[in-house]
Amino acid sequence: MLEVVLSEKIRVKNPLVEIDGDEMARIIWHFIKEKLIKPFVDVDIRYYDLSITNRDRTDDQITVDAAYAIREAGVGVKCATITPNAARVEEYKLKKQWKSPNGTIRSILDGTVFRKPIIMKNIPPMVRRWKKPIIIGRHAYGDIYKNVELVVDGPGRAELVFIPDGGGEKRVLNIHEFKCPGVIMGMHNTEDSVRSFAKACINYALGEKQDLWFGAKDTISKKYHGFFRDIFADEAEKVKDRFQENGIHYRYFLIDDAVAQVMKSEGGMLWACMNYDGDVMSDMVATGFGSLGLMASVLVSPDGKYEFEAAHGTVVRHYYEHLKGNPTSTNSIASIFAWTGALSKRGDIDNTPDVLKFAETLENAVISTVESGIMTKDLMLIADPPVDKYALTEEFLDAVAGRLKKAL
Ligand code: NAP
Ligand code: MG
Repeated sequence: MLEVVLSEKIRVKNPLVEIDGDEMARIIWHFIKEKLIKPFVDVDIRYYDLSITNRDRTDDQITVDAAYAIREAGVGVKCATITPNAARVEEYKLKKQWKSPNGTIRSILDGTVFRKPIIMKNIPPMVRRWKKPIIIGRHAYGDIYKNVELVVDGPGRAELVFIPDGGGEKRVLNIHEFKCPGVIMGMHNTEDSVRSFAKACINYALGEKQDLWFGAKDTISKKYHGFFRDIFADEAEKVKDRFQENGIHYRYFLIDDAVAQVMKSEGGMLWACMNYDGDVMSDMVATGFGSLGLMASVLVSPDGKYEFEAAHGTVVRHYYEHLKGNPTSTNSIASIFAWTGALSKRGDIDNTPDVLKFAETLENAVISTVESGIMTKDLMLIADPPVDKYALTEEFLDAVAGRLKKAL
């Protein structure tokens, strides 16, 4: 264990909400706090334990409380949590299959999720041209995720009907005259949701000083996809001057063109995606950059509240090894970057440059540790130049702590 060396810790002016989680992610979470945060930073932590057992004990009230705490404090940092399925209900003897905590928090904050890869010189992306992060902003409401579907077993007519409140004229469109069995889907989105998504993307692009790209299929879906395109264009027009001042651009593409341009690019843009595109493309981009352990994630609400986390889950296979007493080599980088993301946002909002500087120093300590050849197994497998041994979970964190101490 490293001794505490700083005579005076860096003080964070305003509170930070900390959300604890489950399994291996929880184990590394505590190491990070003990080795990289607490010895150096003095921060008023509002702690919420979202372990599956505590969510079960509180009938999930703790999740709602945590989300409201982020609304109040403005910034939170979250450890990965279990979203229970039937097997987890059995495993943890739960009262019921509680909802996804991320879903609950997202709906209370009305947020958009941005995922950003962490880039290191010796962890080359699978796509050779990618040099800068490609950030994906995924719309998290509606489309096929809130659809209704119907399988029809024979001939008949399907219609799209809208009945206005207050007795206006009913609007009817013919979908299809079925001559044989088939399938129908109805989906929707709302102007409020699309607009707040566009605003969240614009704010994030301005914060990161990166171009904003948006792609849809408006040549085919002239109304539905056109609706998204027009709202994005409208919101982008409102901030034209601010984009110009920051030297960044808004660009609209057909979605297939966007995919081709992203693959050919060096990266360095925020790619705003409709819900389904974001679901699919975020996994492609994450894999393309190397490892889930290198993907950071932040939830941003339209009114500027932030929740930082790692994109990966609780790394359950490693946890079972840990429980057996076996050594693990779990990558803690995305979780460390959740802390640095939250601290730099706090520093930014509070106007405390020393807090910003600490976060930057810690990020650099992580990157230089990996670039010096010390890394966990998931990275060792893809490192170039190759390394011949990997660090265990705690060994990696101790190496980072050593560098951090020297740099401060
Ligand atoms: P996962 O925890 O992300 O792990 C999937 C696999 O990816 C791991 O088994 C491991 O591969 C590799 N991996 C992920 N993170 C890693 C890290 N930091 N270091 C090294 N390897 C890493 O996903 P999952 O197994 O699908 O889900 C497990 C639990 O997490 C589930 O209960 C799910 O509900 C929850 N989950 C939570 C969140 C969240 O809170 N944000 C997100 C996703 C999933 P190897 O086994 O090959 O080493
Ligand atoms: Mg997906």
